[in-house]
Amino acid sequence: MKALIIGAGGVGTVVTQKIAANPVFTEVMLASRTKSKCDAVAAAIGGGRVQTAQVDADSVPELCALFRSFGPDIVVNVALPYQDLTIMDACLECGVNYLDTANYEPKDEAHFEYSWQWAYQDRFKAKGLTAILGCGFDPGVTAVFTAYAAKHHFDEIHYLDIVDCNAGNHGMAFATNFNPEINIREVTQKGRYYENGRWVVTEPHEIHKPLHYPEIGERESYVIYHEELESLVKNYPTIKRARFWMTFGQEYLTHLRVIQNIGMARIDPILYNGVEIVPIQFLKAVLPDPKSLGANYHGQTSIGCRIRGIKDGKERTYYIYNNCDHEQAYRETGTQAVSFTTGVPAALGASMWAKGLWRGAGVFNVEEFDPDPFLAELGPQGLPWHELFDVDLEV
Ligand code: NDP
Repeated sequence: MKALIIGAGGVGTVVTQKIAANPVFTEVMLASRTKSKCDAVAAAIGGGRVQTAQVDADSVPELCALFRSFGPDIVVNVALPYQDLTIMDACLECGVNYLDTANYEPKDEAHFEYSWQWAYQDRFKAKGLTAILGCGFDPGVTAVFTAYAAKHHFDEIHYLDIVDCNAGNHGMAFATNFNPEINIREVTQKGRYYENGRWVVTEPHEIHKPLHYPEIGERESYVIYHEELESLVKNYPTIKRARFWMTFGQEYLTHLRVIQNIGMARIDPILYNGVEIVPIQFLKAVLPDPKSLGANYHGQTSIGCRIRGIKDGKERTYYIYNNCDHEQAYRETGTQAVSFTTGVPAALGASMWAKGLWRGAGVFNVEEFDPDPFLAELGPQGLPWHELFDVDLEV
């Protein structure tokens, strides 16, 4: 099986290492906008295992030229969400299977939803190709955790709270853990959660409370909108309420407020010295590269699902989670835990497809596949998970 990874950022670095280490893939290529970054990742892996190429993933003809010369069976898209549709178009044109970790966002609108990618359903089906959407950690493992809960522990899931804590400290006054432009667009938008068949919209960070995270302790946690809520409430119609909580420190929130107040989070182009620039893209250029944070990052992330529902006529609660240590992630891959927790599931999802365990013609969210083989491998790949039953979920 031949795998082509697109995007040589923090996540792409981890995906490429994990795919290169997996014998199910006979040939591996990493392609990105800047070829020198691909070459550095390939050189660190060594042994001539990883080929590299330059590609502009906004261009379907460029993508198709690359697909035709390398002949991948599956493309793992870990570039930016802006490129999802062009890469899916090229996959359809060249007969290649597809996997990503983040749903499509138009560049000129800080708005993400699955409708654009779900609209490819008939075309992937007609070509007999598989498209796997949202196979990072969240979205990704959080949806697999939900599928596992539904398969083994619940007859009906009623309340789902996905909790995402980064208790790591990178020693910088302000930095984002993945692509700053995508991250800031995500966390500054209005909150949104699902309740009794409709979406409830809140002001950004309006709902918050302290939650306890295993081995970490109490952290202030904020309800934000996150994309897996959209597919999970569709695929598990018994859900009455679904929310996503993320922890933020006060320092981070203060910086974020200032960035917004002074206009640096703007996504529309402005004229600067006769040149058009997009403020948030300029900001990205001066902020620390998320890939560079790993060396001084200490502490853990903890991401999981807190679920309340019914099993055999009785109410039960269930908490399934993974804790990932930044230093351990750095020792293994040279990246911090956020890149690690995203890259490991993406590579694992690609191997599930390559081994024929996650297949189908059409566009799928990960909870539509069997969670068992994926979760059996997740621990050995570096992300062990734990279950707690009948505990106080706090939410
Ligand atoms: P980075 O910004 O570090 O890396 C993105 C890479 O994509 C860069 O190498 C960049 O090239 C490349 N790229 C951007 N535009 C193009 C283009 N037009 N053509 C080819 N290559 C391009 O981001 P991360 O690695 O932090 O994140 C990667 C993806 O993972 C994002 O989509 C993010 O949303 C997603 N993610 C998902 C998570 C999850 O749990 N599901 C969590 C965290 C991230 P260049 O180096 O030249 O800039």
